[in-house]
Amino acid sequence: MAEVRFNKVRKKYGSTVIVDDVDIVFPDGSLTVLVGPSGCGKSTSLRMLAGLEEISGGEIMIDGRVINGLEPRDRDIAMVFQNYALYPHLTVLENIAFPLRATKTRRADALRRAQDVADSLGLGALTSRKPKDLSGGQQQRVAIGRAIIRQPAVFLFDEPLSNLDAKLRVETRFELLQIQRRLGITAVYVTHDQEEAMTMSDRMVVMRDGRVAQSGRPDEIYARP
Ligand code: ADP
Ligand code: ADP
Repeated sequence: MAEVRFNKVRKKYGSTVIVDDVDIVFPDGSLTVLVGPSGCGKSTSLRMLAGLEEISGGEIMIDGRVINGLEPRDRDIAMVFQNYALYPHLTVLENIAFPLRATKTRRADALRRAQDVADSLGLGALTSRKPKDLSGGQQQRVAIGRAIIRQPAVFLFDEPLSNLDAKLRVETRFELLQIQRRLGITAVYVTHDQEEAMTMSDRMVVMRDGRVAQSGRPDEIYARP
């Protein structure tokens, strides 16, 4: 169980307020899309949740526990980036197993777990390939595999499909949604693409100028004037 909560979260660079006392609840097991025009503070919000950016005020909680003082690796959060950030010299299996190197997991156990994850993502037959020998969608799945191998409580996606062509973007979108539902991991998904936001989720948070402009179901939001 992992409910994520932003309480009056604020981010300032110098005297410029980028995220302005934002309150958001991300319910346990939900996928919430954070949408809004470029520069409205989506990425910064996600990075503060991941611990890649310090907050200037307020608090971020997971299941009632304040996490904003913790190191990224102690937050039980995994993040999938737009450029996948796979290691080019490692195989699919090694890429997926990589996060376990920082743990006490033995290599053989790590690789076995990576194989299970690969199988569950339909990558079972591709585990000895290098990233460059995969399609964009397959690389995306490897990135997801690497994110889930440590069984995080929360899953963050920052424009994860924007490098894919339109057709693949739609396919991968639904694949990703299925994976999230199957795992039941609380997920936050950032995009500037309104159409993607509406089809990805039944929960949207619309940001504008560092604030939450609207939140709710897509039909509620777009029905309003
Ligand atoms: P979004 O993800 O919605 O496109 P960001 O969170 O990336 O928006 O950025 C929000 C605003 O914060 C933008 O105006 C951006 O220029 C500014 N910003 C982001 N990072 C920094 C930084 N390190 N220093 C100063 N301003 C920044
Ligand atoms: P090196 O330390 O020179 O990279 P290793 O034989 O330790 O060589 O590892 C070879 C590859 O196997 C690594 O690049 C890594 O991807 C993977 N690997 C090694 N140990 C682990 C581990 N505990 N968990 C996951 N992957 C591992």
